[in-house]
Amino acid sequence: MHTYAYGFPRLGKNKEFKKHIEDFWEKKITEKELISLLNEVEKERISYYKSHVDTFPLGEFTYYDNIFDTALIFGIYRFKNFDEYFAYARGRYALELKKYFNTNYHYLVPSVSSKAKFRLRWNKPLFYFNTFFSFRGNPLFLVGPYTFLKLSRVKENFDKAFVELCRAYKELFVELEKQNVDSLHIEEPAFCLNLPQKEIDLIVKNYKKMLTPKLNVNLMTYYESVDFLDALYELPVYGLGLDFIAGEQNIKILRKKGFPKDKKLICGIIDGRSVQRAHILHKAQFLDSIKKAAKIKETNIILANSCPLYHLPVTLEGETSTESYIKRRMSFAKEKLYELHLLKEVVAGRGDEATTWSKAVNKTIVHSQPGTFDTLSIKEREFLKRKNLQQKNLRLPFFPTTTIGSFPQDKELRKARLAYRKGRLSIGDYDRFIRDKITKLIGVEEDIGLDVLVHGEFERTDMVEFFAQKLNGFLTTENGWIISYGTRVYRPPIIYARIKRDAALTVKEIYYAQSITPKPMKGIFTGPITILAWSYNLRNEPLHEIAFELARALNQEAKELIKKDIKIIQIDEPAMKEFAPLKKEKRDSYFRWAVRAFNLTSQLAPTTQIHTHMCYSDFEGIIKWILKMNFDVITIETAREQAKILDAFKGVKFHRAIGPGVWDIHSQCPAQEKTIRRILNKSIKIFGARNVWVNPDCGLKTRKMPEVETSLKRIVKVANTYRKKFKKSK
Ligand code: GLN
Ligand code: ZN
Repeated sequence: MHTYAYGFPRLGKNKEFKKHIEDFWEKKITEKELISLLNEVEKERISYYKSHVDTFPLGEFTYYDNIFDTALIFGIYRFKNFDEYFAYARGRYALELKKYFNTNYHYLVPSVSSKAKFRLRWNKPLFYFNTFFSFRGNPLFLVGPYTFLKLSRVKENFDKAFVELCRAYKELFVELEKQNVDSLHIEEPAFCLNLPQKEIDLIVKNYKKMLTPKLNVNLMTYYESVDFLDALYELPVYGLGLDFIAGEQNIKILRKKGFPKDKKLICGIIDGRSVQRAHILHKAQFLDSIKKAAKIKETNIILANSCPLYHLPVTLEGETSTESYIKRRMSFAKEKLYELHLLKEVVAGRGDEATTWSKAVNKTIVHSQPGTFDTLSIKEREFLKRKNLQQKNLRLPFFPTTTIGSFPQDKELRKARLAYRKGRLSIGDYDRFIRDKITKLIGVEEDIGLDVLVHGEFERTDMVEFFAQKLNGFLTTENGWIISYGTRVYRPPIIYARIKRDAALTVKEIYYAQSITPKPMKGIFTGPITILAWSYNLRNEPLHEIAFELARALNQEAKELIKKDIKIIQIDEPAMKEFAPLKKEKRDSYFRWAVRAFNLTSQLAPTTQIHTHMCYSDFEGIIKWILKMNFDVITIETAREQAKILDAFKGVKFHRAIGPGVWDIHSQCPAQEKTIRRILNKSIKIFGARNVWVNPDCGLKTRKMPEVETSLKRIVKVANTYRKKFKKSK
């Protein structure tokens, strides 16, 4: 059996990718040097494939993001040099970032106008074909046209754009054929969404036209199963890649529909998103059942990873201090390649190595099949009663002003943190340093005139890792970096044992902050779903159980904060929506347990005001679940897209308050009074003047202090004028 891997991380073992690109941004190296250094990074990345698997795509590498590159290949944007290239990614023309399907990788969102003409403008695949010529014979990588367009912002007429885009792809294929390219690797994860029949027909019709007979195409799908698999059987492709891990329906579809004899089945069987080590013998059995379901010959099966490997860190070798009994249950990207090799060996009758590898791995995989959980939601009218109780406690003006939590983290802070970590700064001195930052910030917040204050989150590096380091049951890594977007990296923690809270997480800093101001201080922490979504998981238990454990630990934290006189608790859940399953039919079951986990966390006396924060600009299809979450105030992203998210609340019973973000902190500009007023006016119409808070879109961690002050002052100023204007309204 052949092995085939794809999506190996481009970051490099020591984050070389990040280093070179950032050096280029800082003008420490020239464009020529950048290209040659990144070619080295790519060479090394390929060498991982070379030493473990038979086939891999060529040209997967990108200097920022492959969706963006596809827009450049087909002329939606043009660039003459890499300064211009990066101007779209992060500079003058910066495109919006969005999460790639249900992952935490962000891609750049291209805008396709109705006048867009797709023409082959940059033959990127050919560049890799020529630069890495010794690896010819491997298929050339491309993002598929359907996925590209689905992820883009298409102004109008999707169908027409798709037809034209396929024509441009064909132009590329013809060009590649002329250069003796003989095979392609085309990724179409968007085939795993719930597609309307009309679009399925569109895909089949245009793919047939687009593909040329001489090119062997491997059509790859991942992150879920493909509902219209048999329609794809009609396409003249060489191989069809399916995800048998996240798409557990795929095997059932094969059982029903079989598989064509003239195609290869690329079996995504090694999990590309989990750090759990594979039990190879168990995988071999699974493979056997796939073979039986599809009723195909062994020679028509290719072994592969289930989805791109860049959701994992490069290699476990970087983890020197993780205890070996845990490491024996883990694998990162490089180890996944090795697992493919081992599986091939087992199929060929050589199983010794695989047995050793799998020794510590639990054989039985528990699939999360949550029953129907009670979400523990309280009745909407209860929120009116709570509002009165809380108001007695808080005595806030209307149009209360606040921020989302974090404040700029400057060089001085990063230096102190590093010194503390390296042992050059004692814990006492570090604590004092943080206290000073908090004291100063509170002075600034009071001067600006904010009503509800925050302590600034200076002690937190990352909103998940910080909690993982304090809770029992988590492991944090030394070098487990993955790319979030561009050159931005983070290290997801790993859940490996029962989660318990033995010590306070946030109390020290927040209690101190409250003790030095008469204004209410928010007690802010990350919610259970976001912690779960942004961590890896080594435990062989249903996800919802782990979410409930987290919820209980966080609820204890909230209770302790309340004991220390904190009157407002904010539970951040930016991942609530992203973590939802891709397939519509699975979402209700997910939201039922996810909302329950949130509500377990927020189960507190009604006198405590519960806030939640989410950062995305639409609630499409999920508003009913948002309303089942027990919070009194929600702050959301509204500054972009004409505050369209607020429309989701029209006509629904909602007796709570909302803080529409009036300043888009992801843009380079300070808050504009006009925008603030526009968003407030719209909010007042929907929620009433007594139910609107005034705050930025999101945390301020990545901004600079002077612009933050300017913006917050404007926010407070506008809020004051609205107070006067709406004095008499109810
Ligand atoms: N409280 C967090 C902060 O302000 C929220 C971050 C987020 O929404 N991603 O940084
Ligand atoms: Zn946010």
